[in-house]
Amino acid sequence: MQRDTDDRRAGRVPAGDTGRMLCKGCGPVWIHPDIAAVLPVVGGWPRALGCPWCFVRKAGGHVPRPSVTCEGCRHFSLGTINPDAGMGTCGAGKGSHYPAQRHKCDTFEPARD
Ligand code: SF4
Ligand SMILES: [Zn+2]
Repeated sequence: MQRDTDDRRAGRVPAGDTGRMLCKGCGPVWIHPDIAAVLPVVGGWPRALGCPWCFVRKAGGHVPRPSVTCEGCRHFSLGTINPDAGMGTCGAGKGSHYPAQRHKCDTFEPARD
């Protein structure tokens, strides 16, 4: 456990943390799949009010994240010229992205909660 904590403090994903979850404070983070399996799932994401990365985030450290797409996020507005594939706008102030473009985002929130 100490090694996992040290890894997170250094901004590294601990070996075996191949699952993903949505922390209310941190957003999308990597987690051990055994932990993800026991969390309530809402909108396709295991959820919790806190996570093992919260102390890193609160200290201003780097939190590595699983990638997401804007098309599944409640903050995303489709582009008007080409809604299916054109760039849309992020209502959370994270700029413009293609709907299916995978990227890291700390403010992703699934559209269906
Ligand atoms: S919050 Fe992130 S995932 Fe959601 S629309 Fe903005 S950039 Fe995309
Ligand atoms: Zn957290």
